[in-house]
Amino acid sequence: MTLSLQGKRGLIMGVANERSIAWGIAKAMAEAGAELAFTYQGEAFGKRLQPLAESLGSDIMVDTDVTDDASMDAAFATLKDRWGTLDFLVHAIAFSDKNELSGGIASTTRGNFKTSLEISCYSFIDVARRASEMMPEGGTLLTLTYQGSNRVTPYYNVMGVAKAALESATRYLANDLGPKGIRVNAISPGPMKTLAGAAIAGARRTYRHTENNAPLRSNATLEAVGGTAVYLASDAGAFTSGEIIHVDGGYHVLGMPQPDNLA
Ligand code: NAD
Repeated sequence: MTLSLQGKRGLIMGVANERSIAWGIAKAMAEAGAELAFTYQGEAFGKRLQPLAESLGSDIMVDTDVTDDASMDAAFATLKDRWGTLDFLVHAIAFSDKNELSGGIASTTRGNFKTSLEISCYSFIDVARRASEMMPEGGTLLTLTYQGSNRVTPYYNVMGVAKAALESATRYLANDLGPKGIRVNAISPGPMKTLAGAAIAGARRTYRHTENNAPLRSNATLEAVGGTAVYLASDAGAFTSGEIIHVDGGYHVLGMPQPDNLA
């Protein structure tokens, strides 16, 4: 059993900048010896990604919009061309209209419901199918979720519904792909200061609340999430599949805030 990713090749989807959870995971995986390729969404994110990817010795970067089949076809064709096979994939992608990440869920529009579920859940099913075709020897698929999937979290609204669907998809994919030796898991970090995280109303208060109340009295770090991803993609995690692993300082076990923080 080893935590090394030496000799393994993986695709990282969802680095927007150096605060992205996908970037924390990429750094940890590269440190563990993995060879990485990246997808990014559009030219502006591509410019930010380039020096980051190069700093990890990666020269495979593909502009990919997960809502566009042609773009997805091209991304996986590029990867197949360069590498042939794949050992792991990290899906760190989610989206909802910022205007609907405040107020209540009853205001969710049909359009944003469809977009949120498509980008935040369907895209994982889509990449799982494509990636699994490049994993003849087995592999690992990882996605990122949040506990707003099963506990009401103010303003998380339709994203909570999307994450519940994503967690369910993780279990179904784990079952479908298990016979091929492919493990499918989700990491559930506590709130983190990223571009996507900042789009949710009251983000700063949520962040402060978790720091003051989580059993470990701290928010998740990029390093902590990265370490968990390395474990899941490595041989040390060889018998874990269909799991939702919390990296939230234990916050998810609480039934009430700590006594000092009760109103
Ligand atoms: P981020 O903004 O850095 O990353 C989100 C990524 O999604 C961006 O790179 C963006 O380009 C990509 N994306 C959105 N729509 C896309 C599309 N159509 N095609 C391709 N890419 C698209 O934010 P993050 O917080 O690092 O988010 C990564 C994942 O972690 C998300 O699934 C998010 O829900 C999850 N997560 C975040 C937190 C948090 O507090 N930040 C907590 C738990 C889980």
